[in-house]
Amino acid sequence: MPANILDGTRIAQDIRGEVAADVKTLTAAGVRPGLAVVLVGHNPASEIYVRGKVKACGEVGIYSEQLTPAESATTDELLAQIEELNRRDEIDGILVQLPLPAQVDANRVLMAVDPAKDVDGFHPLNVGFLSTQRAGLVPCTPAGVMEILKRSGIALAGREAVVVGRSDIVGKPAAMLLLNLNATVTVCHSKTHDLPGVCRRADILVAAIGRAGMITCDFVKPGATVIDVGMNTVTDPAEFHRFFAGNAKREEAFRKRGSTLMGDVHPGVAEVAGAITPVPGGVGPLTIAMLMFNTVKAAKMRRGHRVAELSRA
Ligand code: NDP
Repeated sequence: MPANILDGTRIAQDIRGEVAADVKTLTAAGVRPGLAVVLVGHNPASEIYVRGKVKACGEVGIYSEQLTPAESATTDELLAQIEELNRRDEIDGILVQLPLPAQVDANRVLMAVDPAKDVDGFHPLNVGFLSTQRAGLVPCTPAGVMEILKRSGIALAGREAVVVGRSDIVGKPAAMLLLNLNATVTVCHSKTHDLPGVCRRADILVAAIGRAGMITCDFVKPGATVIDVGMNTVTDPAEFHRFFAGNAKREEAFRKRGSTLMGDVHPGVAEVAGAITPVPGGVGPLTIAMLMFNTVKAAKMRRGHRVAELSRA
């Protein structure tokens, strides 16, 4: 039986609706949540991402501001801008769009963001809060993975979860979030022995690798839930046909655009898994929705709302 498709677009819309309602209440109480996005230079992909984030802010009623330092910006110049944003009370969230130009010390810049405004959840203080189960700001993509699981009624407690990928942005925080909800978690990476065998133990398999279609049917226990975080652009026609031959909709789009977006999970897995997130339309839309959620959460936390109300992510 084909897998149940977990519709990330719908879940993200639900979350945005909830965030918009929260923003309305806060704004009526005199606190309009605000997000500052720092975009250095002219990276076309970053410009598209930032445009999406700013647009989403407008849709849910969050005040947003875009700072666009020149490509030649120095670490000190960026640190001064971050300090200014840290000081401004109407700014609740600060997001530094990565990558930064080579001359900039990205680590110093990210560390300079006030942890209370760190809506990406990358600051070590927030990483520590996550690993010790304290309320803090959780990285958006893994937080989105958890929302998909929760809102799709996928049980976690006592079940085997395998995360492939151990990045600070996705794999590690996803593993920590699953552990915090009592899954039995294994984290895999490029040095893992017998990756298919380890993955086959999973009731919940999270792929965050960055390799198109790497997770094939032999990695998946029949009936497992598969969450595909990967976002890979396929441009090679031979590779495209290997994955999507016979898929008329994809073929037409590939002909028009010359590329297609696909995850780390092979399309054939949909015949083995019990539930699966598509790419596009799975985890991707959750990332911006959770950024909106985090901005509101930061606005509330800075103003001392009760922790219990805030620890939904
Ligand atoms: P990274 O490159 O930082 O991490 C990739 C991880 O995959 C590493 O831990 C690496 O292992 C592991 N890996 C690589 N090759 C293999 C292999 N052959 N076998 C087992 N493990 C392997 O990527 P990110 O975590 O930043 O992103 C992962 C994917 O998620 C990408 O496709 C990215 O585009 C996507 N992404 C999607 C987002 C969304 O909004 N949907 C947001 C962020 C990312 P090792 O540590 O040993 O090198």
